[in-house]
Amino acid sequence: MRKKRVVVLGSTGSIGTNVLRVIESFPQRFKVAGLGANRNAGLLAEQARRHGVRAVSLADTERVPGLKRLIGDVDVGVFEGENGLAQLATMDGVDILVSAVVGAVGLDPVLQAVDRGIHIAIANKEPLVMAGEIVMERARKSGARIVPIDSEHSAVFQCLNNAPVSAVRRIVLTASGGPFYGKTRDELLNVTPAQALAHPTWQMGPKISIDSATLMNKGLEIIEAMWLFGIDVDRIDVVIHPESVVHSLVEYVDGSIIAQMGATDMKLPIQYALTYPERLPTPFETVSLADIGQLSFARPERGMFPCMDYAYETAKRGGTMPVALNAANEVAVAAFLREELPFVCIPDVIRAALDRHDNMIEPTIDDVRQADQEVRVLATAAIEDLRRGS
Ligand code: MG
Repeated sequence: MRKKRVVVLGSTGSIGTNVLRVIESFPQRFKVAGLGANRNAGLLAEQARRHGVRAVSLADTERVPGLKRLIGDVDVGVFEGENGLAQLATMDGVDILVSAVVGAVGLDPVLQAVDRGIHIAIANKEPLVMAGEIVMERARKSGARIVPIDSEHSAVFQCLNNAPVSAVRRIVLTASGGPFYGKTRDELLNVTPAQALAHPTWQMGPKISIDSATLMNKGLEIIEAMWLFGIDVDRIDVVIHPESVVHSLVEYVDGSIIAQMGATDMKLPIQYALTYPERLPTPFETVSLADIGQLSFARPERGMFPCMDYAYETAKRGGTMPVALNAANEVAVAAFLREELPFVCIPDVIRAALDRHDNMIEPTIDDVRQADQEVRVLATAAIEDLRRGS
């Protein structure tokens, strides 16, 4: 069997490094063709050498000379800057694109890979949140297969097993609740980035850890699920499940509920997304229900965590509202991580940006990009207002 050639965008991040571990575990199946990173030139060069890749891409152009020195090999192509990821994604002979970048930067490379009709393993929520309708429509045209890596969506994908959406009553996404679940606003006033980054069950990158703490991660996942599975947002529910063993569930119209369970380890959904539609014996640790003993579930309490409600609201309003939600959140989370915005004010910034955004109905991809840029400016202004105490 010819090895599948894989391009990994975001290879130095939390998901990306796990993707490479999975690929290394199946050397007869996969070969890394290209790697893209944001700014970690040292790790990117090491990965490139280890996997003998044809090309790499680094977003931070200032670090490209250093990267070239580290790589040394003239046969390795080096793309750089904003378009580097798309150039990697559209190289000849690529069979699988893994998009594991964080944020809106994943939109272009994913769209271009979709148009080429290749297999896409997607961990990057934003292309679907921002432009889900466009991405899925183009995938239908080109025949591109989009398989989710996000544990909840991988679970739903597996529970659905290609069943028609008419057979589904609702999709239930599980949420661990994050590190602050059940806390009051007063208790959260002085939360530091370090505290917010300590997630109880999952090891994740900084952006998604903060999103988990605000429940925005679940909000983005609701919108992602709506597009990925073509289901009305009102038929997507969330249940709090602190053990993170049930990764999500599908309730069928006949009352049957199918759940997918597994270890709290992203390597398992990554493996499935790469090998789909096949299942291969995993070298990674699996879970024993008897050892866990008990699983618990609870209704989410929404008061302290309005971000999830904003996600439902923007999904229903449609147009570029989800773009606004995502862009405002990215700006607010970055400000919190720089310690320029209190944790409890993240939802306030998003609310202000949503209220000021002029929704564009049935947006083109250029409208999406424009809305994304405009809302970043609005959100930055909202943060300034809060800092001045107005
Ligand atoms: Mg998830």
